[in-house]
Amino acid sequence: MPAPAAERGVRRRDRDNDNSNIAKHPMNVRDSTNPKMICRLSILGICLLSLAPPDGLSAQRAIGGVQVLADAMLVVQPGVDTLAADRRAILRLLRAHANKSNSIDASTETWSRADVIDFDFGDLAKDFVTQQRATLESIDYDDATRSTQRIRLRYGPASASSVVITLYAVREAGSESPWRLSGSLAQKTRSWTRRTAGRMTFLYAPSMVPDQRRAGKASQFADSVARLFDVPAPPNILFVLTPSPVFYMHLLGLESISKGPDAQKPGSLTKRVSPTGNALVLSGDPSQAEFNKHEIAHAVLGGIFGSAFPSEGVASWLGGSYGMSRESLFATLFAFQRRNPSVSLDRLLKGAPKDIPEEEVRILRNATGALAVHEVYRRRRVAGLRGLRSLPAMAPEDWLRVQLNVSSSDPVALDRWWRAATVREVGANH
Ligand SMILES: [Zn+2]
Repeated sequence: MPAPAAERGVRRRDRDNDNSNIAKHPMNVRDSTNPKMICRLSILGICLLSLAPPDGLSAQRAIGGVQVLADAMLVVQPGVDTLAADRRAILRLLRAHANKSNSIDASTETWSRADVIDFDFGDLAKDFVTQQRATLESIDYDDATRSTQRIRLRYGPASASSVVITLYAVREAGSESPWRLSGSLAQKTRSWTRRTAGRMTFLYAPSMVPDQRRAGKASQFADSVARLFDVPAPPNILFVLTPSPVFYMHLLGLESISKGPDAQKPGSLTKRVSPTGNALVLSGDPSQAEFNKHEIAHAVLGGIFGSAFPSEGVASWLGGSYGMSRESLFATLFAFQRRNPSVSLDRLLKGAPKDIPEEEVRILRNATGALAVHEVYRRRRVAGLRGLRSLPAMAPEDWLRVQLNVSSSDPVALDRWWRAATVREVGANH
């Protein structure tokens, strides 16, 4: 059967390490219940920062030699000068920002609107913080013109596991307060090479080489995904190319991310939280470069499938996953089923089996999701794919039963489908 337009393209080895429904690789990308947040890193845990209600800066007082604001959510480390007028203004912004539970809400009052990245995506680093209490470690001028100040905030007690975030305060002409907060991504990419292709804007880290042909293919792919599912594509997809996930985490201002043994494994994440509907892809996967179909599919489709399992299934069906094409995913699934006849689909979907490496479980789940989407397409073609939109959130096994019309009264019916469909697809490709 011919492939739909969205999946045509160069049959190269697609590397993808982004998976919404489960923790993974060094950065542990995992599911979020927030449909706007497609893929999120969990090395720091998953929790949107939610801080205490505001109180006046005048309530600042000293506790144990440390300046503490009344709600105790922002502590100023001893030795940090907050007396100068500029510093006081910035401290006020930080405090107001800390009291916002949502990084985009924050952009309306305290966050810079001058840069499109700041405007669209707010405080990207904040999404990765679980601790509520922040310590202001330093504020320093970052440039000769004294128009930018670099701020270091530490979340949690001083220890190896605490999270240190770098953000900025920038002078903003015309605003009530001349200072606004700005994220590391906006500040650090100012001089980066920028290319545009259709609705996609590509930003290149200094070591990355632009490929306009691949950029054009990526843009066409984004449009074809939108057409296939009959959804409006984001007006703009900002696609940031970096050498690794650790690189882009630092780029977000998360400078305390440790470098584990897997730290340089490729990986990517996609976010679609912009008030304008724009999407952001942070790619740490140079082998796919601009043409990262899995992430582009996420960027275009957002949270339309209601839950992570179908979202990953569709992205993996369209663009492969974990560096594998769709066909390779099916072959991997086939080999696993052969080697492990006693491991049921149910067991794979409900809680990670302890005797199987976490990453392998994630690959097998994505492969299973892609297999199911392929089955939907085989049976009901484009109408079937579009029927996957706007479904309520449900457990993967329930979603599979509904989509594949498998009896819920027969406990092994779904498992039978899983094995038979895998054999069919792998057999068809050999
Ligand atoms: Zn994904």
